Amino acid sequence: MKKQLHIKYNSQESVFIDVNDDESITISLDTPPAKLLKEKGKIPKTLFRVEGSRWRDDEYFYLNWLEKEVLLDDIIMIQFKEDDRKATPLTKVEKYIEPEKECTFCDKKASEVKHLVEKDFMARICDECVKLSQQVIDEKIQSSK
Ligand SMILES: [Zn+2]
Repeated sequence: MKKQLHIKYNSQESVFIDVNDDESITISLDTPPAKLLKEKGKIPKTLFRVEGSRWRDDEYFYLNWLEKEVLLDDIIMIQFKEDDRKATPLTKVEKYIEPEKECTFCDKKASEVKHLVEKDFMARICDECVKLSQQVIDEKIQSSK
């Protein structure tokens, strides 16, 4: 028996997804902020998404199985279970290409600056921003004397 996700959308036929050990699966229901989008002239859509990642042979892939617009009163049923149903042939795979790292402060790419100092995965600062920060700090210290 395999681990599977069974997803049923209203009364349509179920979607079967194999849950593999080298893959992560994320299921989301995204309700965008209608107020902000309407101001920008966009019509907000509520979307149901099933997406994820795959690590295989040291390569990283983005997976996008399902994306549907959800209307009010729609019913989505998700079941995580052991079963041997034939997986629905929906799999969309894209090789993930890591974007070039950027300075968190000025958005310059690593190739555009001399040094980029990284803290965890979240924050990076380039040598130019460090210099600018030091000037600002020095000026504050000077003016407070
Ligand atoms: Zn910078």
